[in-house]
Amino acid sequence: MKIIDLTLKNYRNCNNIYLDLSNDKILIIGKNAQGKTNILESIYFLAQLKSPRTSNIKELIKFEEEDFEITANVTKADTDINMSLVYNKAKILKLNGLKTTPKNFKSALKIVLFSSEDLMLLRGAPQDRRNWLDRAISQIYPAYDERLTKYEKIRIQKNNLLKQPEINLDLLDVYNHQLVITGSNIIFLRKKFINDIKNHAITKHSSIAEFENFDIKYEVEEESIEEIANYLKSQLEARKTEEIARKQACVGPHRDDIYFYINNNDATKYASQGQQRTVVLSLKLAEINLIKEKLGESPILLLDDVLAELDDIRQNYLLQAIEKETQTIITSVDTLLFDKNFLKNVTIYNIKAGNII
Ligand code: ATP
Ligand code: MG
Repeated sequence: MKIIDLTLKNYRNCNNIYLDLSNDKILIIGKNAQGKTNILESIYFLAQLKSPRTSNIKELIKFEEEDFEITANVTKADTDINMSLVYNKAKILKLNGLKTTPKNFKSALKIVLFSSEDLMLLRGAPQDRRNWLDRAISQIYPAYDERLTKYEKIRIQKNNLLKQPEINLDLLDVYNHQLVITGSNIIFLRKKFINDIKNHAITKHSSIAEFENFDIKYEVEEESIEEIANYLKSQLEARKTEEIARKQACVGPHRDDIYFYINNNDATKYASQGQQRTVVLSLKLAEINLIKEKLGESPILLLDDVLAELDDIRQNYLLQAIEKETQTIITSVDTLLFDKNFLKNVTIYNIKAGNII
C-alpha cells in the first residue's frame, strides 16, 4: 500500500501542509523542532488513531486553534481510499466521504514506525515492550484492541475494589473470573504474534550478526488457551492475599514481559548497545514482513531520525533491506547520511517552522 498525498490543517505546528507522496521513497529534511516528527506522527495517528507520543489528543491541535484535520489518499492493490479525520471535540472519521467507525477506519492504513526511541526497547520498562507488542498485534488482528480495552476496564474495576476498606470477596472472584477469560485470550494472541514474528526476526538478525543466535519469548510459557487460563487462574488464586495487601492487581497480561536472547543470554541485561540495536532493527523489518504475509500488502515504513543513530553497517543494511514495494518516509536533519544512488530516486522535502520550503 502507498500514501499518495497528505494534507494537514492545524496539526501541531503545521498550519497547512500538502505533501505529494506518490514516490516510494520520501525524505523530509529539517533542523530540530521544525515539524519532521509531527508529520510522521500525523500519519501514525491516521493509521492507528493514537499518537506514539501522547495520549492527550488535544496536544495535537495547533496552539490557539480548536480543531485539526488529517487527510490522505491511499492506494492498495486494487482500491483507492480517501481517509479524512477531523478532530473538533470528537473525532469525525470518513472513508471515501462516508462516516465510519474507528475499527473500520484503522483497517485502511498500516504503518511501521521506527524512531530513535524504539532503540531503547530492550533497556526500557516492560510497559514499553508490551506497548510495542500490543500496537503491532492490533494492526494485524483488529479485534485485539477491543479485548485489551475490555481487560483494562475489568482491571480498573478490580483495582477500585481492592482499594475499598472492606473487600467484597465474592465480587473479587467475579472480576478474577472475567480477567481469566479476557486475559488468557490476550496472552494467547501475544504468544501467537511472537511465534509468527520470530522466524522473520531471526532471519533478519542473522543477516546483520551472522554468528549470533537470536530468540524471543513471552513470559508465560503455557501454550493452549486452556493451559493459559488454568495458569492465570492458579496465579490469581495463589497471589490473592498479596493483591489484597498491595491493593492492586498484580497478576495478568498487564504485568507480563517479553524476553529477548542473544546466544541464550538475556539481551536486556547483557547485550551491548550495538547488539540491542540489531535486535530492534530486526524486529521492525520482521514486522513489515509479517504484515505483508498476513494482510497481503506491505505497510508504510516511517523512519524518524533513526539512521543517524545507527552505524554504517546497520544503516546500509536497513536501506538495502527496505524492499521496493515498501513505501518509506524518512526524516533527517540533513542528506549527508544517504548515498548518491539512494538520493537519485527519492523525493526530498525541506521543512521549516511547520511549512514546506
Ligand atoms: P527534532 O529534529 O528535534 O526531532 P522535529 O522537526 O522532529 O525536531 P517536531 O517534534 O516535529 O520537531 O516538533 C516541531 C515543533 O512543533 C516543536 O517546536 C513544538 O514546540 C511544536 N509543537 C508541538 N505541538 C504543537 C502544537 N500543538 N501547536 C503548535 N506547535 C506545536
Ligand atoms: Mg523529531
